[in-house]
Amino acid sequence: MSQPVLVVGAGPVGLTLALALRQQAIAVRLVDRAPQPSDRSKALVIWPRTLELLDLHGCVQPFLEAGLQGHGARIQAGQRLLVALAFSRVQSPFPYALMIPQNRTEAVLTQLLAERGVQVERELELSDFAETESGVRAELTRADGSKETMQCSYLLGCDGAHSAVRHRLGLAYSGETLESNWVLADVKLDGPAAADQVAVVWNPDGILALFPIVGNRFRIIGDVSGAEVADPSLEQVQALVDQRLGSGFRAHDPIWLSHFRINERKVDRYSVGRVFLAGDAAHIHSPAGGQGMNTGMQDAFNLAWKLALVLQGKAGSQLLETYSPERSGIGDQVLRNAGVLTRVALLRQPLLRRLRNLVFSNLGRSRRLQRRLVEQLCETDLHYRGSALSPVLVRSGAGLAPGDRTPDLACCAPSGKTRLHALLRSGRLVLLSVGDPWPALDWSLVGDGLVSAVAAPQPGYRAGWTYLIRPDAYLCSCAPSAEQERLLAAWEAWR
Ligand SMILES: Cc1cc2nc3c(=O)[nH]c(=O)nc-3n(C[C@H](O)[C@H](O)[C@H](O)COP(=O)(O)OP(=O)(O)OC[C@H]3O[C@@H](n4cnc5c(N)ncnc54)[C@H](O)[C@@H]3O)c2cc1C
Repeated sequence: MSQPVLVVGAGPVGLTLALALRQQAIAVRLVDRAPQPSDRSKALVIWPRTLELLDLHGCVQPFLEAGLQGHGARIQAGQRLLVALAFSRVQSPFPYALMIPQNRTEAVLTQLLAERGVQVERELELSDFAETESGVRAELTRADGSKETMQCSYLLGCDGAHSAVRHRLGLAYSGETLESNWVLADVKLDGPAAADQVAVVWNPDGILALFPIVGNRFRIIGDVSGAEVADPSLEQVQALVDQRLGSGFRAHDPIWLSHFRINERKVDRYSVGRVFLAGDAAHIHSPAGGQGMNTGMQDAFNLAWKLALVLQGKAGSQLLETYSPERSGIGDQVLRNAGVLTRVALLRQPLLRRLRNLVFSNLGRSRRLQRRLVEQLCETDLHYRGSALSPVLVRSGAGLAPGDRTPDLACCAPSGKTRLHALLRSGRLVLLSVGDPWPALDWSLVGDGLVSAVAAPQPGYRAGWTYLIRPDAYLCSCAPSAEQERLLAAWEAWR
């Protein structure tokens, strides 16, 4: 039997990675040192791009059933509205922020994994590892101190911000801890707060952000002064609400009261040999924008399809070398955006604050800028242009460019009429020829890691062109159909 992949850490990222690998029938072990899952609500939002990727794995429905649709976000200066963002503007089958506490997200992922035959092995800690000729030898330590040594094909470190895998690899987690202190409260809140809107209020004395969770349960976060900050009392939370949100609100029934500081850190490479990092093990940043967990889950989706093709012998191991540059580039971008949002919100100097408010109220009037901000939050603007996997063979003009996210469309494959994203669930790349009328299907192109399909032109997809699309629904490359051989040759380099 082939050696399993070892996933270390059953947080949202490790669970997602194990699930995406299982979808392709890859043998997986998933270990976590904690005796039980965390009951903390931490990340509250699953953004549209992550929902799309869950859908590509046929797994989105239970999340939609467990969550609540958030339709927008409002940024205010005191009581004055600066920007109202409508998530319905995003071009996605899921045009909303799915509000769902992280412990629910983890529970749904755990259930989906169990249905696919994988149980999280708890109280099992990765204590050491070393790469061998054919894989990685990992030492696992049980709660009673006894040890197990196992051989795995690849080791995936999804073990969070204090990652033992990252430490063992000797990778620097470069960055800084911001000076500001924050309190966090999950409480029930009576008052005129919208149950489907995120509200961010900038006051001269600090920020307050309000996120709906479910019913009248809300997450409140705010920055507080003082060098040392402890978990707030309910009275302190109420005082913060009165001061920054206005009267008419009553916080009660606290579920989680906590405090934190913001770290902005990242490794500069996500893999060494057969060992990979994903999620907080590789990057951590401000919660502004709520991108931490989503970015980590998208690391997982990026790595899983590549690893599956390599382990199935349908691609060469050089394909795995594209994981680090692709995801590190995205990590830099997310860190930068969250950092800017945080620093802008934290401005204290009155003149700078006035300037900021002016810029944001202008932004509030520009539909184009609003849409850009919405796409950034929803992570639908992320792309892999410039990646070694996205060569520009022929300039495609106004259509999709290599590295772009590919919209779904109706198509015909050897299996019959279907949709592009349904085809991608097979974990293979799709070679899509577009024409009006539909081109004839070229059966000779149906290869091991590849499936061919034909479709009518759609926005982004031009008649007379062929598109090579990755299993995570990003475009590898495209060319006029007459030059299709160039596309196939480009993919050959990864086989
Ligand atoms: C207070 C707070 C609020 C947050 N709010 C948001 C938010 O609003 N939006 C957002 O997107 N993100 C938010 N985050 C961040 C989000 O929670 C993280 O990005 C997310 O949990 C990262 O998931 P992960 O799977 O990479 O790591 P983790 O969730 O940290 O999971 C790592 C797992 O690895 C296990 N582990 C560690 N070491 C070992 C070992 N040696 N062997 C075996 N197992 C090991 C741990 O037990 C743990 O279960 C918040 C975080 C905090 C702390």
